[in-house]
Amino acid sequence: MHKAKKRFGQNFLVDERIVADIIGAIRPEPEDNMAEIGPGLGALTRPLLKRLNHLHVVEIDRDIIARLEHDYPQGNTESKLIIHAGDALEFDIATLPAPLRIVGNLPYNISSPLLFRFAAYAERIRDMHFMLQNEVVERMVAERSTPEYGRLSVMLQYRFNVEKLLDVPPESFRPTPKVNSAIVRMTPLPADEIQVRDEKLFAEIVSAAFGQRRKTLRNTLRNYLDESDFIQLGINAQLRAENLGGEEFARISIYLNGNSRV
Ligand code: SAM
Repeated sequence: MHKAKKRFGQNFLVDERIVADIIGAIRPEPEDNMAEIGPGLGALTRPLLKRLNHLHVVEIDRDIIARLEHDYPQGNTESKLIIHAGDALEFDIATLPAPLRIVGNLPYNISSPLLFRFAAYAERIRDMHFMLQNEVVERMVAERSTPEYGRLSVMLQYRFNVEKLLDVPPESFRPTPKVNSAIVRMTPLPADEIQVRDEKLFAEIVSAAFGQRRKTLRNTLRNYLDESDFIQLGINAQLRAENLGGEEFARISIYLNGNSRV
């Protein structure tokens, strides 16, 4: 019997119907390069292994790692499961074969930093399917000028097509979480659609603009742009961050790069 650990965000999926829906959405093919983050007690791992030649898993909990190593002895060339023991926030995805498919019922306490980390590897990724807190999924798919729209929406949508696939109620897990969950799919946009070259600057501008989301861009971006810059860019300085789409933030970062202002 495994006792769920709160510090690792352990809410295990127990609803077979939801598991079947998730596997149906992922549609694993034997040759896929796939990595699962946080396999836990294997609710998704087992059905994935049925369909795949190989599956990489990244797990932090030593007790779970010991169970996995018992069930899938490593160092055996027959083993379809390749276990990476450690923190997914430090795991180097570039060590896995590309194009990579990533799946996971993510620990909710670290879901945003994990999403940002994976997003940085977009060019190596084919797609990602995650179970997340519904509130986070709503922010990921939010459209501009809505309350949910923010830094997470801009930073993910400019690189990925983000789709909410399925609502998952708390009763689908043990222990039962206090929040609703949802499944989201992220598919990288074609590389030639990504205009931003200086990602650090882009991220910095988005953070500055949303840092005080009730203030106008004139205020939040005053360290980057003056009145004449806004005119040149064709962006109204009276607007707020929530009114701008990713392409406008991209335009600002490209403009600043060109002007070598930062
Ligand atoms: N996939 C299983 C399921 O659907 O029932 C477990 C999901 S549970 C919400 C999250 C899993 O991620 C747990 O197995 C937990 O130990 C693991 N985990 C938590 N933090 C992690 C981290 N930083 N790196 C890797 N795994 C982590």
